[in-house]
Amino acid sequence: MAKGIIFIADGMAGRPLAELGGATTIEAAETPNMDLIAEQGECGILDPIAPGVRPGSDTAHLALFGYDPYQYYTGRGPFEAIGAGLEVKGGDVALRMNFATIDDKGVVIDRRAGRIQEDEGTDELASLLNGLEIDGVKILCKASTAHRGAVILRGEDLSGEIEDADPHREGSPIPKARPLTEEAERTAGLVDKLIERAKELFGDHPINKKRQKEGKPTANCILLRGAGIAPRVQPFSERYGIKGSAVVEVGLIRGIARFLGLALIDVPTATGGYDTDEKALARAVLTALKKYDLVFTNIKAPDLGGHDGDAIKKISAIEKADRMLGIIYEGIKESDTHIAVLADHSTPVAFRDHTGDSVPIAVWGKMTRPDGVTGFGERPCSGGGLGRIRGMDLMPIMLNLMGASEKFGA
Ligand code: ZN
Ligand code: ZN
Repeated sequence: MAKGIIFIADGMAGRPLAELGGATTIEAAETPNMDLIAEQGECGILDPIAPGVRPGSDTAHLALFGYDPYQYYTGRGPFEAIGAGLEVKGGDVALRMNFATIDDKGVVIDRRAGRIQEDEGTDELASLLNGLEIDGVKILCKASTAHRGAVILRGEDLSGEIEDADPHREGSPIPKARPLTEEAERTAGLVDKLIERAKELFGDHPINKKRQKEGKPTANCILLRGAGIAPRVQPFSERYGIKGSAVVEVGLIRGIARFLGLALIDVPTATGGYDTDEKALARAVLTALKKYDLVFTNIKAPDLGGHDGDAIKKISAIEKADRMLGIIYEGIKESDTHIAVLADHSTPVAFRDHTGDSVPIAVWGKMTRPDGVTGFGERPCSGGGLGRIRGMDLMPIMLNLMGASEKFGA
């Protein structure tokens, strides 16, 4: 069986920009390696989820891994927990958490505890809840960025069908977690008990005494919202009969890859920022390829340029991604490895967020059929032989080229 690489430049795709003379940031960037892959390979455009649907990086990646997001995306809670680095298992109930401030009457006076930061003790506070057991249900808790975190309830007979234990505004007490179904009554009760435990454990904690002295709002309770039950998934290796690994930078995508059972490869110098080490990322992909059949990689920087609304930064991030691709190409050009180059969604500079536009894709390798497209970009790729496909089509296309797919029918 041949090997495969799925190379994702996060949010790389975009829309024509007047300041670039009507070019997109991909078209304006110098991308000799992407252009080579496009010229020698087969091109197309891809709707990450469906035409016009604006994807998150989480739902887009689920689709690209071949897991239908409409079936497996069960809400922000589980995916926030996955992104925060908690080991989420199918059947866990996960919630998004805020550190918050209540007064002595229990009224929420700051939903973000004075925008408490990671270096102000949120890890330590979260660790007080992590590992607790309430009525036979295990609690896992982790802080993420600033005042945010995630909570998991692990046990029998749990449900994600509960309303938020969060007033969503200041000046009100924390509402009880109302169950939406009879089956959810137990879970709602557990959420309420967990909030009470947080109040007890956080109230007089040295971190909060210090904040009080400094005149800052204390993190003396938590708010829980966005409950969802983590989906039960067939692990990647079972689903496809191949060994997969992931060389990815940011927590959310690392978490999804791990949740699907892909082996995570760490790259200590990969920052997930504009300054990331694209050479180390590329080398890690080539190393992973020795051991695994299919390697996913995601370089985050192009998406940041889109969110920052900065065409120059986005162009230079795309050029960085192209240099990473160049190193990978040098490492595989004599082998029978196939590579797909694409974005997980569009993040146009003028929109500063993800849009529901299609993205360009080029697939290269010995088994591909070149199609006359001579450069990589939104416009050139739209005329290629792959036509217009969806994110869920990527895995079957790769498996077919790798000689790793089962025949459908006799
Ligand atoms: Zn993304
Ligand atoms: Zn983004």
